[in-house]
Amino acid sequence: MGSAAPASSALLQRTLHKEYAEAVCGEGVYVIRSDGSRVLDGCCGAAVSCLGHSDKVVIDAIVKQAQKMPFVHGSFFTNGPAEQLAKLLVDASDGAFSKAVFLSSGSEAVETALKLARQHHLCNGQPQRWKYIAREGSYHGNTIGALSASHNPQRRVPFAPLLSPAFRHVAPCFFSRDGSSGEDEKAYVERLLAEYETVFQLEGPETIAAVIVEPVAGATLGAVPASKGYLSGLRKLCDRYGVLLIFDEVMCGLGRVGTTHAWQSLGGIKPDLQTIGKGLAAGYQPISGVLIGPSVVESMEHGEHGSPFISAHTYQAHPIACAAALATQHTIASRHLLDNVQKMGILLRQNLSRLPHVHEVRGIGLFLAVEFASKTGKPMASSVAQACLEGGAAVYLCASLVDAVILAPPFIIAPEEVEKLVATLEEAVVAVVTRA
Ligand code: PLP
Repeated sequence: MGSAAPASSALLQRTLHKEYAEAVCGEGVYVIRSDGSRVLDGCCGAAVSCLGHSDKVVIDAIVKQAQKMPFVHGSFFTNGPAEQLAKLLVDASDGAFSKAVFLSSGSEAVETALKLARQHHLCNGQPQRWKYIAREGSYHGNTIGALSASHNPQRRVPFAPLLSPAFRHVAPCFFSRDGSSGEDEKAYVERLLAEYETVFQLEGPETIAAVIVEPVAGATLGAVPASKGYLSGLRKLCDRYGVLLIFDEVMCGLGRVGTTHAWQSLGGIKPDLQTIGKGLAAGYQPISGVLIGPSVVESMEHGEHGSPFISAHTYQAHPIACAAALATQHTIASRHLLDNVQKMGILLRQNLSRLPHVHEVRGIGLFLAVEFASKTGKPMASSVAQACLEGGAAVYLCASLVDAVILAPPFIIAPEEVEKLVATLEEAVVAVVTRA
């Protein structure tokens, strides 16, 4: 677990690192600390800063919007940047989505998607649908609803009495860890789908509102893409029972794996609702969203008990945040950055394969994880992440369910920066193993 920030600080903050220091500015893929030292951002914080830390186009868009109209409340007005952003995301979704709503954090997006699923069923005269199926080893956020969906034991346990009884959890899709001996990936996927079917029958399929999954499991398990056939099987199962399918792409979405949506790299299976966040405005502004499929829009507009959206937040569709997101998404397209994600993803993966004491390198695009094979049996990822930061590169430490770190550098990373990132990580691994 993280430690607290220094006692002399008035800011309450959870930090994972002894090297906790003030960051004062950014330059490309580097964050610069108050002592002048530079940290190569190998994980974009938590897969956020996909354009690096000094993108002039996004900064100019923010300044321009702030000068023109910093804020209007969504109860009274719509605004240009929010409308344009919604249109851009809907148009780029291969018909998967017909509307979008914008919030401030990934947790809020997850809360909103859960509520939209519930509202969809209410609009269709099915108030008995209030249960959700999520997965063990998932992370969907820290607010009470999103934490109820999540299954990171360290974060859940202290708040257990507050968590919602509406959530059930099934096994995640993690073949390299959970596949039984002699079982091939197809048989493994069938076993997981059978578990969903069992839980559906146990609970009563007519009581289930939605299933929520991360197509590439991120913060908790470390960049684990769904196996072939898993998302399509889940889609069929949900359709058979009238259950909505929610993809949480807050971490893995919007280009991180080399396609706009992670599901486009995983067989093209479309969800009914999808959360987005982190990379949406690359961290230049806090913004997240929910992309809403036609069936949910249809039930709200024309369902037996159709009703307008029953949820609102003060900073919903914030004009400056939407302007930053628009500029971010335009920049990714105009600079063909998804091509770079694919190319640099291959290079990073190749370079990571030379690291010692590795159990597995996994993931897609620039969303990769290194799981360690500790010689002593004691987990080493935390020490490696710390040593790496001391050496001048940041990598993301996964939850303690796996002994792994995530590498998710900015989409703009260059080959020599990939090399530097891996060299710093390699030195960190060697230093930790030598010390042990
Ligand atoms: N969903 C996923 C898949 C995430 O990885 C996260 C954050 O790591 C969240 C939701 C919550 O996002 P936020 O921290 O912005 O509330």
